[in-house]
Amino acid sequence: VSFKDLGVVDVLCEACESLKWKHPSRIQREAIPLALKGKDVIGLAETGSGKTAAFALPILQSLLENPQRYFALILTPTRELAYQISEQFEALGASIGVKTAVIVGGMDMMSQALTLAKKPHIIIATPGRLVDHLENTKGFSLRALKFLVMDEADRILNMDFEVEVDKILQVIPRERRTFLFSATMTKKVQKLQRASLKDPVKVEV
Ligand code: AMP
Repeated sequence: VSFKDLGVVDVLCEACESLKWKHPSRIQREAIPLALKGKDVIGLAETGSGKTAAFALPILQSLLENPQRYFALILTPTRELAYQISEQFEALGASIGVKTAVIVGGMDMMSQALTLAKKPHIIIATPGRLVDHLENTKGFSLRALKFLVMDEADRILNMDFEVEVDKILQVIPRERRTFLFSATMTKKVQKLQRASLKDPVKVEV
């Protein structure tokens, strides 16, 4: 099976090739066709499974069809994961000129506000700092958002980001697509899933 077989467009297949990715990983084989069909997806997968590209490729493909600023928000529990996700979006989206912003705690609010003012396509954030910007950064809103990804949802919730995630869910459009990835399906994750995904398909690797 190739990325093309999954329905990935040529320009993104070429990006995978240039990263020396020969074949899609299991989570990518399962999740990408569903995501391209317009489904909300719950992915039970660990780091190292290739889960980032499983959501990044469908989001980039949709961005190609509908280029728009503040297109997707990726929530992730830690700074390190945020930078790793950003690197993959930049690598996969290099030839289509994708702009990303990493919005995490422990960094200067002001310079992050300037990054947001440049209107990136993809925002990768930890929930606490994103809420800070939603409440304090003038001119920044996610009212036009098309995709929400909750990456490592079990860890996000274990770090007590529940209140922040709820706040974010309240200010983004209900008409959007949502992907939730988690290593484990806990009670809290199930609750979040029910509150944020529409008629999702679950894939497990
Ligand atoms: P992730 O699970 O998303 O953190 O990805 C783990 C690592 O696998 C990353 O360094 C990716 O660059 C790499 N990767 C993702 N998909 C593939 C693939 N289909 N073939 C080879 N490597 C991949």
